[in-house]
Amino acid sequence: MCKVIAVANMKGGVGKTTTAVNLGIGLAMQGKRVLLLDCDSQGSLTSSLGFRKPSVLETSIATIMAAVIAEEEVPDGILHHPEGVDLVPSNEGLKGIELALVNVMSRELVLKEYVSQMKNDYDYILIDCMPSLGLMTINALACADSVLIPVQAAKLALEGLQELLRTISHIRKKINQRLKIEGILLTMVNPRTRYARETMEMLRDSYGENVHIFQEYIPYTVRLEETPAEGISIYRHDSRGKAAMAYQALTKEVLDHENR
Ligand code: ADP
Ligand code: MG
Repeated sequence: MCKVIAVANMKGGVGKTTTAVNLGIGLAMQGKRVLLLDCDSQGSLTSSLGFRKPSVLETSIATIMAAVIAEEEVPDGILHHPEGVDLVPSNEGLKGIELALVNVMSRELVLKEYVSQMKNDYDYILIDCMPSLGLMTINALACADSVLIPVQAAKLALEGLQELLRTISHIRKKINQRLKIEGILLTMVNPRTRYARETMEMLRDSYGENVHIFQEYIPYTVRLEETPAEGISIYRHDSRGKAAMAYQALTKEVLDHENR
């Protein structure tokens, strides 16, 4: 059985890509077969796994989507990262695909067709979404079993969460009844500040009853700012640091969800 998790938030810079990398590699370290799908035209998942020039790649999520739309055979082009995860890369070609999708029949379900083909080979497929609620993100939510929502621990970052939750419940009604919320993950937390504590309390008060909020939060640390340039996970970059511990604990929580 393969589980598909979309990592989504229409805000940028909240830790989606960082979470896709470190949850993905965390799951691989636990022996899971993991495929990461870069579904952002900025290709930051691709480059932060060390594939520096996404634009020169012959196969990407864009060419794969194009093949599905044209009902042609889907190209392979899966990249392998030394830490044990596979990657479908992305580049700016995805912008054109997102525009082209508007005129495609069943435009919300193009990615789902590809993901269904890949499910036999993996235990987890993590989708790193664009910072928008455009058609590409809708495609991700349409084929996901659950959505993991990173939220930056700042009051302003909570704005917009309501809109995302509304979209999720809309998608549940219209396209994907099985879609669950894996949880809200607080990122970039500086636990010593009162501000961060207040944000966490506010989040639990406003959403905690209806939505799972991960026990573990990700602390703010420059170590996580450094990893994209290295092309490695936090486990390799700073194995004993608090961010590595936090992502390990998150990985365990996600694995435990399977046993609930
Ligand atoms: P998104 O994918 O939501 O746009 P990213 O994961 O790319 O967000 O993170 C935005 C920036 O913040 C990146 O430079 C990343 O390295 C950095 N970052 C992510 N998480 C943390 C953290 N917990 N502490 C410090 N910096 C972080
Ligand atoms: Mg990103």
